[in-house]
Amino acid sequence: MIATAAPRNDWTLEEINALFALPFNDLLFQAQQVHRAHFDPNAVQVSTLLSIKTGACPEDCKYCPQSGHYTTQLEKEKLLEIEKVVEQAQAAKQAGASRFCMGAAWRSPRDKDLLVVEEMVRQVKALGLETCMTLGMVNDQQATRLAAAGLDYYNHNLDTSPDYYGEIITTRTYSDRLETLATVREAGMKVCSGGILGMGEGAQDRSALLQQLAKLSPHPESVPINMLVKVPGTPLENVEDLDPLEFIRAIAVARIMMPQSHVRLSAGREQMSESTQALAFLAGANSIFYGDKLLTTSNPQADRDRALFAKLGLHPETRETCESEAAQSERLAQQQLNQRAAELAVDASV
Ligand code: SF4
Repeated sequence: MIATAAPRNDWTLEEINALFALPFNDLLFQAQQVHRAHFDPNAVQVSTLLSIKTGACPEDCKYCPQSGHYTTQLEKEKLLEIEKVVEQAQAAKQAGASRFCMGAAWRSPRDKDLLVVEEMVRQVKALGLETCMTLGMVNDQQATRLAAAGLDYYNHNLDTSPDYYGEIITTRTYSDRLETLATVREAGMKVCSGGILGMGEGAQDRSALLQQLAKLSPHPESVPINMLVKVPGTPLENVEDLDPLEFIRAIAVARIMMPQSHVRLSAGREQMSESTQALAFLAGANSIFYGDKLLTTSNPQADRDRALFAKLGLHPETRETCESEAAQSERLAQQQLNQRAAELAVDASV
């Protein structure tokens, strides 16, 4: 019954905890059923992420080597030139990416920077790639300008539960994050929003994070689920590891709760065995970042990913696939409406 259920925004914590508590095989079976009802089970959407401005961020996210509050080995970089970004986007496209994500370590973009990133969006989009940016908080006007430049997705993660949030970030609030997400949605962009697991949070926090993400209406089109990468010099460098099976459970629960979203197996993949990654795909993850680096932390080499895809019989999702799936859902929705209209006509005639 769950497999065909419409997306919901009213998941209770009790329901979410009950999913987490299922026997592992039952949980994965349910997640796989939901996954197959909405996606090609062997297609994985591939994005590439480039840091377009690195380090010296005024925010104090305790997991992040880019924060100016901590001393790490990270080399700071100014905003990259447009040509360099376009070169990288071309290389990403050749390597099989369908989406190019650009991240800048800002609290929010300044107007003069916005002019540059708008041009980046236009030129990357002209290559035939989907575009995504993460630039911190944005106001209505900035979001409208980005949307007008052709930005498809805006990434802004909730990171963790509302209760645990204050342990991780103090320089902006949970409601600031929710406000940016609403602003971006209002401007007509698709939303990419997820969180990070393994930051010392409890099981309740993982449930509450997924509840918050599923409350967003519509659900974020992309939901990155990250495993913390412990970077020396950050306050979380010595936090206890999260059991990988707990991480897989979170992917499966996210898949069940947000059936039409791309759930992205995101940061932390390099530390994961192939078996853990295979379980994540089985649990319903259907998106990854491809390439050598994830903003500033390393990511499995593209060759290793290609080899893993070959072993698992997975293939990269193409933009055409996404579009035909969208067209297919529209057709199915129309069919349901027609069927309902026909049923009503029959009811009225008896
Ligand atoms: S996660 Fe983003 S906002 Fe937070 S410190 Fe890092 S770059 Fe800045």
